[in-house]
Amino acid sequence: MNDMPRFQGKADTLKEGLFLPSGVDGIYARTGLYEGVVESLAALISSERPAGAEVLRFPPVMSRAQIERHGYLKSFPNLLGCVSCLTGDERHIRGVVQRFEEGADWTSELGAADLVLAPAACYPVYPLAAARGAVPAEGLTFDVAADCFRREPSTDIDRFQSFRMREYVRIGSPEQIHAFREAWIGRAKSLADRLGLGYRIDLASDPFFGRGGAIVAASQIEQALKFELLIPVRSEAEPTACMSFNYHQDHFGLTWDLRTGDGGPAHTGCVAFGMDRLAVAMFATHGLDTDAWPAGVRKALKL
Ligand code: AMP
Ligand code: ZN
Repeated sequence: MNDMPRFQGKADTLKEGLFLPSGVDGIYARTGLYEGVVESLAALISSERPAGAEVLRFPPVMSRAQIERHGYLKSFPNLLGCVSCLTGDERHIRGVVQRFEEGADWTSELGAADLVLAPAACYPVYPLAAARGAVPAEGLTFDVAADCFRREPSTDIDRFQSFRMREYVRIGSPEQIHAFREAWIGRAKSLADRLGLGYRIDLASDPFFGRGGAIVAASQIEQALKFELLIPVRSEAEPTACMSFNYHQDHFGLTWDLRTGDGGPAHTGCVAFGMDRLAVAMFATHGLDTDAWPAGVRKALKL
């Protein structure tokens, strides 16, 4: 913790150099300098796309029914954002707007739509895969991305409410998922090396909600279901999770009746790249002047 003051000044400089405020914590306008690096990182990750991966890009909103069936409300109800809109006939909606213009609250009239803000990029892929029938013997691989939302407002440079997530998703047998995850932990390390980033890989758990959640998180660690690649951004002592390597066992297979050829539930896993955290980590490590970044790093990013 005692390295915090040194990092804090740096975080403020980074924030000023990369973002413009919106008036809401964790929501920023991103500068061209920053977006250039996000785009270069995306291209580098694409250059490592697994052979045969199907590319899908999802909107920032997804089906509320799907997220409910995923069990998201059991695990992370505090993080979910739900789209809500004014409904009813023209007279009713005009009345609400009129009352707002007179200084009254309008939000109490909002009704939940059939949409939530996507909390991760991979959720919509499992029902899509299940609708196609049994998973082939060689398994399935997807390359997905979405703008994600999590209700965790913060002024920290590495925690946004809206952020970009890219994922490679693997569906198949437990052995296929394990092999995929192991290979990707190795590939992620070499990517971080090429980017000149300091890192460590560690076991991790998701921030499951409430007291019951602590037990689920402990079991997740015990079963080694999640690893993260951590990079010092705000602090050396508390490095930031910039990528995660997840094994969901048969959770999504059972939820979506997603089956392998032998009729058993498919197992799934994903490697997630936090695009915004990776970009911030690049600037935190190498500074705001991309022209002055090490030659090897500039070459890897084709800057
Ligand atoms: P997770 O599903 O929690 O493993 O998230 C996947 C990746 O998304 C993480 O490794 C982070 O890089 C990124 N991420 C998660 N939450 C946030 C956030 N609040 N702000 C920025 N990036 C995030
Ligand atoms: Zn995922």
